[in-house]
Amino acid sequence: MTMVVSVEDLPVEKRSVLVRVDYNVPLRDGRIEDDTRIRASLQTLGYLRERGARTILLSHLGRPKGKVQKDLSLRPVARHLEGLLGEPVLFAETLEDAEEKVKHLQPGQVLLLENLRFHPEEEKNDPAFSRRLASLGEIFINDAFSVSHRAHASTVGIVQYGGLPCAAGFSLLKEVAALDRLLHPQRPFVAVVGGAKISDKLESLQALVDRVDGLLLGGAMANTFLLALGYELGDSLVEPEARGHAWDLLQKAYARDVRVVLPDDLVVAKAGDIRVVEAKAGVPAGYRALDIGPKTLEAYRQALQGAATVFWNGPLGLVEEEPFHEGSVGLARILAESSAFRVAGGGDSLALLRRFHLTHAVDHMSLGGGASLEYLRGDSLPGIQVLQRGKDGQP
Ligand code: ADP
Ligand code: MG
Repeated sequence: MTMVVSVEDLPVEKRSVLVRVDYNVPLRDGRIEDDTRIRASLQTLGYLRERGARTILLSHLGRPKGKVQKDLSLRPVARHLEGLLGEPVLFAETLEDAEEKVKHLQPGQVLLLENLRFHPEEEKNDPAFSRRLASLGEIFINDAFSVSHRAHASTVGIVQYGGLPCAAGFSLLKEVAALDRLLHPQRPFVAVVGGAKISDKLESLQALVDRVDGLLLGGAMANTFLLALGYELGDSLVEPEARGHAWDLLQKAYARDVRVVLPDDLVVAKAGDIRVVEAKAGVPAGYRALDIGPKTLEAYRQALQGAATVFWNGPLGLVEEEPFHEGSVGLARILAESSAFRVAGGGDSLALLRRFHLTHAVDHMSLGGGASLEYLRGDSLPGIQVLQRGKDGQP
């Protein structure tokens, strides 16, 4: 189990506390399209503000590659956060500006720094830059699990070079607690993996095969597995170059006695004509497989019966279009009834759960993205390693 120091372990009362958050939100024309990541930080911010801490927020946004890029400014995020907190949020455009503003910061006040990735030193984990960030506060809290797989100035350097006492915020703690339950699962442990690209998820699939008792494959992901088995896929989304990997994964799964469920039937479509076909019969020429069929959902239900732990990543169909969300919504309904410990991850999977008001179907929505997948491989993440407790349990 990963034992990290918690924000509750440190004397934050009236202190200046630097908090690394992940405010890398989707923006369109200066509007925030999804504020989940901002909301995820509210518990830690509330905790600090109640204790009269002065909070200095650090984040990145997008990939400005070390240069100031106006459309990647965090200023709209500061405004949005004001709305959520119902309090003014100060904003510092430059480090000089931040250094000036922290001097006047009052207990309970919040200051957000401009996009850290405007500075090339951030991603280089530059010692001098890290020390300069650290000098803005007295305590460092990492509440950005999703960037903790990167050794950057604001995740690692600030502790490594800045020497601040450090701890994890509530959002990071929750993420680690949930993912630890997948790393050391109660069995049976069943993973459901869908989504669009095998190549993106290959490494995590490899690692999952080592840990799970059941592996349910759906979505475009499953198409490539079916292709590897010699099925006809018509015009479906497939990755022929990943066929070999798919085959190897199946072999590995069978060798480990993992119960693999591939689609028995598929919802296929061609120019508005929608039908269900047996996977074995093949997808007719010109048709695309866009969802799992009802028989497959039934097979999923059986495979999930009695599961003690479930991890779901990736939609089972083209969920953005009617009616190809049905397989995924059906799965969410099965999960909602399950007594297993359930974790869902992946931007599109979580968006689907929100859109159909099915967020209660899982115990934890993992916002970690790439960091979660690395964590689930069993690798310790550099940004979390620096927050680790001593063997004696002491911070
Ligand atoms: P997540 O973001 O949850 O990790 P991915 O990004 O891997 O998931 O995949 C999500 C995308 O996969 C969605 O846009 C969805 O429409 C697409 N998808 C899933 N199944 C299919 C399919 N059978 N055909 C085409 N697209 C699919
Ligand atoms: Mg996605």
